[in-house]
Amino acid sequence: MPEFPEVYTISQDLKKNIIGYKIKNIQVFKYYKLPSPINTKLKNTIGLKILDVENIAKNIVIKLSKDTYIVFHLAMTGRILLRESSHKDDNWVKIVLELERNDKILHLKFADMRQFGKVLVLNKQGVSTLANKYGLDPLEEKITPEKFLEQIKSKKTNIKNVLLDQKIISGVGNIYATDSLFLSRIHPKTSTQDITLEYATKLLKSIRQVLREGIKNRGSTLPDKMYVDIFGKEGHQQNHFKIYLKQKCPMCNSKVEFIKINGRGTYYCPTCQLYKNFKDKKLTKEENKNQKKLF
Ligand SMILES: [Zn+2]
Repeated sequence: MPEFPEVYTISQDLKKNIIGYKIKNIQVFKYYKLPSPINTKLKNTIGLKILDVENIAKNIVIKLSKDTYIVFHLAMTGRILLRESSHKDDNWVKIVLELERNDKILHLKFADMRQFGKVLVLNKQGVSTLANKYGLDPLEEKITPEKFLEQIKSKKTNIKNVLLDQKIISGVGNIYATDSLFLSRIHPKTSTQDITLEYATKLLKSIRQVLREGIKNRGSTLPDKMYVDIFGKEGHQQNHFKIYLKQKCPMCNSKVEFIKINGRGTYYCPTCQLYKNFKDKKLTKEENKNQKKLF
């Protein structure tokens, strides 16, 4: 499932490649269940010019002329691909936007194998309503550990669940939540009410580290190969996972535990990630060295 680094990579690449193009035509595949009002609105964007692309949490927002925005949410298996018009062999394509600038044609394709993804056509007000549904953005510099802790504590659940709750903290998905909990040595089942300011500070720092690293590595492509960038290429963050998909802890060499929290596969080290007991076990010299090697 694409998370913030993947969606950010897609929207930044689109920004570099499609601004100034006009929508020449739109093709919606016959068996794709696009609600008819959205279909009509989408067809009405023909002739509009692309002015900007950004992302709001995990939504890709394409700003067009005439106060119109096309929004894609990729959910589980959505993809956005940008191809030359001659490129035909993409799987699961549901919508094709034919783009034109100075006689050059590009195809922006929305593909979605399992069809949980969403397409919306909004105006500016609709985009701000959408933005208001999301919680704080951990990459925003002005977010302090105090504010972050307040948000965490606003929900009585475990820390892993709250990190995935987009209404509270936006953009962190399963992989990056798992890895940042490991880096901050917090057991994923720790109650939000037991998180101290010291650990909230560590966690915020870890989230920023893994998200930034994920962006630098153009996202994660898992063994299912679902995530690719707009050119069809895989990301590299999977080669830098901290504990996600690992069998042995890279810090202490213990066997990694795998559990499901709210249906989502979660990896953690039972030695390094303490539960409730925040009286920290000191890292050995070797563990310290291993920790430094993680980035
Ligand atoms: Zn460990």
